[in-house]
Amino acid sequence: MEPLAGATCEICGERVVPGLASQNQICPACQESRPLFVKAAAYGAYDGGIRELIHLLKYEQVAPAAGVLGRMLAEAIQKLKPIADSILVVPVPLHSSKRRERGFNQAELIARAALKSHDFGSELGADVLERTRPTVSQIGLTRPQRIENIRGAFRVTHLTKVAGRTVLLVDDVLTTGTTASECSRILRKAGAKEVWVATVARTLKETSHRHNSADNTRHTLTAAVFGVGVGIHQESDVHALHAPVLVLNASYEPINVCAARRAIVLVLKGVAMTEEENGHFLHAARLALRVPSVIRLLEYRRIPHQTRALSRKNILLRDRNTCQYCGELLPSGELTLDHVVPRSRGGASSWENLVACCHACNRSKGNQMPAEAGMKLMREPHAFNLHTSRHIMRLMGRSDDRWRKYLFY
Ligand SMILES: [Zn+2]
Ligand SMILES: [Zn+2]
Repeated sequence: MEPLAGATCEICGERVVPGLASQNQICPACQESRPLFVKAAAYGAYDGGIRELIHLLKYEQVAPAAGVLGRMLAEAIQKLKPIADSILVVPVPLHSSKRRERGFNQAELIARAALKSHDFGSELGADVLERTRPTVSQIGLTRPQRIENIRGAFRVTHLTKVAGRTVLLVDDVLTTGTTASECSRILRKAGAKEVWVATVARTLKETSHRHNSADNTRHTLTAAVFGVGVGIHQESDVHALHAPVLVLNASYEPINVCAARRAIVLVLKGVAMTEEENGHFLHAARLALRVPSVIRLLEYRRIPHQTRALSRKNILLRDRNTCQYCGELLPSGELTLDHVVPRSRGGASSWENLVACCHACNRSKGNQMPAEAGMKLMREPHAFNLHTSRHIMRLMGRSDDRWRKYLFY
């Protein structure tokens, strides 16, 4: 999670190829039609750890993420030096239906956090702008379609607050600048002297179509082409977010394994606390988020005897991908499920009657009982209960010493 580096457009912040842009570094889109805002600044690229943090806030409703993002936004605001001394900070609004669904407007939370972390001598105008109709996602639309999609979607509610003021429009992400441009148009029409834009993140041309954050090929390529020092931290952050975390019940009984990303959400939401850390940090502005290795739920949860759904995947997991007749360990694709008591003889599809089986054993068993086919089960099949899960946890925890005291006793 690093601030933007390298050559960017002086107006909108889009990455420009050094040498190809005009002398004062203005991107082709801004040269073609000047945005209605003076300048847009972002803290970093919409990628890696920053994207994870924004998703935590927007989609997992982890409100404390706004504090970190707010500090990043404050840095973006500081890049906009020419701003006047009394500015009106206006978060880009959500449509009321969206706001109800999410419970908050993330732009407003981030703006509040930014103003709390740094005194800009500004006033927050959270209700100055209103989104009067819901708009479809801008993704995949052409530039004219985007302009058409967003045109007339906003309204100024307090004309007197805006007249003659220098306005700072803030949002979590600047994608194409179309939304910021439309908000600027409406604010200028309402009498604003000038409009500046600050966001936490900005999508950059070379990375904007990449949706899988684990795929760093394009990113590394971009870094190589533009000679900017990005990628390494974000790559390790991505790995850290997917590291396995052991989940303990309030009683310290191990109950599950989840990805670090999920564990961090549980800790930030106050549902669990970190018992062990894995030694990695997620690096953000003036903040290092410690990645947990073991977390413990703060309230005891009764775990039902059978915790997993009956599925082919879980049967294979229970039987450890081993044919229960010949004992051969095989990839999932080379195993089938065998009804111990054949279906034709009333055998049920249940935990107790289904076992992992190789194709050869399955063929020779046919519609017979194991004894009739001269075959013997390696062990009696049981429901995939806590005991079996613990075996899986032990397998996964072998590489992590911090799990030992909770699993091996
Ligand atoms: Zn530009
Ligand atoms: Zn077999």
